Amino acid sequence: MTTTVVRPEIPLLDLKAQWRALRDEILPAIEAVCESQHFILGPNVAALEREIAAYSQAAHGIGTSSGTDALLLALMALGVGPGDSVLTSPYSFFATAGTIARLGARPIFCDIDADTCNLSPAAVRQTIERDCERREGGLWHRPSGTRVRALMPVHLYGQCADMEALVPLASAHGLAVIEDAAQAIGAEIGGGRRAGSLGTIGCFSFFPSKNLGAFGDAGLCTAADAELAERMRVLRVHGGKPKYHHALIGANLRLDELQAAVLRVKLAHLDRWTEARRTNAARYDAAFRAAGLAGTIGLPRVREGDRHVFNQYVIRSPRRDALRAHLATERIGTEVYYPVPLHLQACFASLGHVPGDCPQAEAAAACTLALPVHPDLQPEQLDAVVAAVAAFHE
Ligand SMILES: *Cc1c(COP(=O)(O)O)cnc(C)c1O
Repeated sequence: MTTTVVRPEIPLLDLKAQWRALRDEILPAIEAVCESQHFILGPNVAALEREIAAYSQAAHGIGTSSGTDALLLALMALGVGPGDSVLTSPYSFFATAGTIARLGARPIFCDIDADTCNLSPAAVRQTIERDCERREGGLWHRPSGTRVRALMPVHLYGQCADMEALVPLASAHGLAVIEDAAQAIGAEIGGGRRAGSLGTIGCFSFFPSKNLGAFGDAGLCTAADAELAERMRVLRVHGGKPKYHHALIGANLRLDELQAAVLRVKLAHLDRWTEARRTNAARYDAAFRAAGLAGTIGLPRVREGDRHVFNQYVIRSPRRDALRAHLATERIGTEVYYPVPLHLQACFASLGHVPGDCPQAEAAAACTLALPVHPDLQPEQLDAVVAAVAAFHE
């Protein structure tokens, strides 16, 4: 008689081990908030804002109700609205472009870099030179007649966009820079400069699957400029300052005190988790090379001198969907970030894009696949993922 030993599932993300390890630290923090009954903008929110700002090398931190609301708050503080446009990446989570459109502004999609999947400075430059003109002290997008107000690069998968090229380009045209750093807390460009300190405003998400995850929705904006930070603080409470006196129309975009208390406990562990993610990524790279797969699948490209924090470890495969199905039969969790580039989303049909407008983003949408890389992934689980990918290609 033979018995089949079924290996347990290897999920894309497993937060239960993290919870078990931190339970005795987190529960008292939650209990203390309950005892205080101070649930809105209390001492934990204020402390977390200082701590994340310091961690991200920014002067100011403003907690928000989610990463999406951080982007929304940043755009509102810069006064982006109808008649305006924002240059951004077509290859990101929907919120990047959704927040621009929700304020009545127009996302202008520039293609990505094929190696990193981040916004391509060459594509941004081309869009500006081909489609924009300078007049009335501003930059105008000729085809739509909108005024270009900002550049919003995304630090996709945990690697900073090419800010050394993008920031000077934005400055030369008078554009603010909003970093969508939702996936990139602690990521660095050369010289050790961190995500959240590289543009005008940095936007973070603490969605549970991000490197620093809350017990629900949460986010935060960083800024160097004190006046801009104050404007965000006021807009986050309906624009009331003093309370019940509104010179601005804001919204309720506040970070919850309970979430802040949880996040402060977790922040102390973030560097260790990030190192574990980076170690896992290096192990994958080495194992795929040793298995002779480096020419068959595309491995993540890390720019020289960068600190990639690997919110996702994303490979490329020309047979992505079949590979994904094979891994599913092996009980290995994967995900496609993202299957439809933003310029081809149905809701943006009115922008008039057609396939071929952003060829690199379209190619990425067809071949990227995220593998489990979370800090609690065990070496034998990682080896099993590599073996399953290798078996598929045999
Ligand atoms: C997660 C994410 C967001 C949105 O954050 P939420 O907290 O889920 O609202 C925005 N942009 C990117 C790139 C993200 O990954």
